Amino acid sequence: MRFPLLALLLLWYNNTAMTDTTVRVRIAPSPTGDPHVGTAYIGLFNYAFAHHHGGAFLLRLEDTDRERYKESSAHAILEALTWLGINPDEGPEIGGPVGPYIQSERLAIYREFAEQLVQAGHAYHCFCSRERLAEMREAQEAAKEAVKYDRFCLCTMHEEERRQRVRDGEPYVIRMKMPDAGATSWTDLVRDAVSFENALIDDQVLLKADGYPTYHLANVVDDHLMGITQVIRAEEWISSTPKHLVLYQMFGWEPPQFAHLPLLRNPDRSKISKRHSHTSLHWYRDEGILPQALLNFLALLGWSHPEEKEVFTLEELVERFTFERFNQSGPVFDLEKLRWLNGVYIRALAPDELYAAVEPFLQRAGLVQAHPEPEERAFAKQCVVLEQEKVRTLAEFADLVAFMFNPNFTYEDEAVKKWLRPAPEHVRPAFYQMIEHIEPLPEEALTAEKYEEITRTIAEALGVGAGKVIHPTRVAMSGRTKGPSLFHMMEVLGKQEVLYRFNRTIDVTRGGEE
Ligand code: GLU
Repeated sequence: MRFPLLALLLLWYNNTAMTDTTVRVRIAPSPTGDPHVGTAYIGLFNYAFAHHHGGAFLLRLEDTDRERYKESSAHAILEALTWLGINPDEGPEIGGPVGPYIQSERLAIYREFAEQLVQAGHAYHCFCSRERLAEMREAQEAAKEAVKYDRFCLCTMHEEERRQRVRDGEPYVIRMKMPDAGATSWTDLVRDAVSFENALIDDQVLLKADGYPTYHLANVVDDHLMGITQVIRAEEWISSTPKHLVLYQMFGWEPPQFAHLPLLRNPDRSKISKRHSHTSLHWYRDEGILPQALLNFLALLGWSHPEEKEVFTLEELVERFTFERFNQSGPVFDLEKLRWLNGVYIRALAPDELYAAVEPFLQRAGLVQAHPEPEERAFAKQCVVLEQEKVRTLAEFADLVAFMFNPNFTYEDEAVKKWLRPAPEHVRPAFYQMIEHIEPLPEEALTAEKYEEITRTIAEALGVGAGKVIHPTRVAMSGRTKGPSLFHMMEVLGKQEVLYRFNRTIDVTRGGEE
């Protein structure tokens, strides 16, 4: 038989791993849809803890819920972690010593361990139909009793009878036999002492009728076989932990430590959900949130820096990580704060880094080709840098710089009304003089400083304040009343483009087409 041997080997590996003190932590998302922001949040802290201790960070896919399973999701989770820069050391597609890392590829292992519990009298086969369970539940609710399995199959049949029904091919589940008395307690790394009365806990199904394990069985077996030393997960799993601890006891295994982190919340304080917040990591990527800003934001949601810093790197989180710095109350997901933080990170990027991040957005908007020539790329980079100070997301760049790529942009109504139709008396002469000054100069001489000098000279000659020339010039160059530094913008546009835009705008002041 192949599997008992495999299971034994895994056990042996695990036992040797448990004797050294190396930290091994994991995230265990279920591939049921787009990669979830909660996975990134929990993943970040697992990564930080592992790296703080020089340990390993694993990814395991818990795909035992076949109804909710989505194939594309499995790869997307790993891709999202890579995008964020919190790469697992072991996992699906990566490999590692304790794989496979996908639960549906480990079914024989769970069956083996479920059987082991039955043999030891810690679990039993149950044949109750859905209908019977529903009736039982209704009766318990009506009697205001705690809703839990009434142990019909355990109390009304002998072990041998149950075995016979299994041999006869009847569908069954395997349930764990929870202790009737006492309490299960642990010292949580985030919330200290936690305790649950055993009598209140249901005889949890471990193996389902379809042969798949439930979350509880697979989770415990895998955490053990994979040598997990700390389980760092969201608070929503806290009520599962006593069942898990009892399973560790039944198997005779040393349990890992547990840390239950505060759950992310919608603005109305309910658990974060699609309906109220953006939960898909794809949304953040497509919106132009930088991964390092998202990580910083997620870190701040659950945790606080010992010096109360708001902006810090992943490396700093790794270095300063301790469980004491978690807050207990559910952090609310504040998108405005994320946008602010993203702006801080955008401003800190070097031009090449910034452009590399923005280029896909410009391509999507049709401003830059799929494989741009070096010149096209250099121009686009300069355009992007012009707007670096103001934007808060990468997606904002395309709209802001579109006019730089399109000499026949549309003028804003407000700009036309104020400066072009009717044009104040000095505007047309100012444009003509600009053209006259610019035309004889070679491209290299036309720096931002030069454009400024020309503009001021002309304003003086016309006897108007500099603003009276600067504002309409901005409209001539961009169609807008606001925007990035005008003279830098002109330098980036280049001589021919600047001349074209003045001429086009002069036509507009004469009633020509906008
Ligand atoms: N599969 C569970 C989830 O989707 C794992 C919870 C745990 O970390 O134990 O989050």
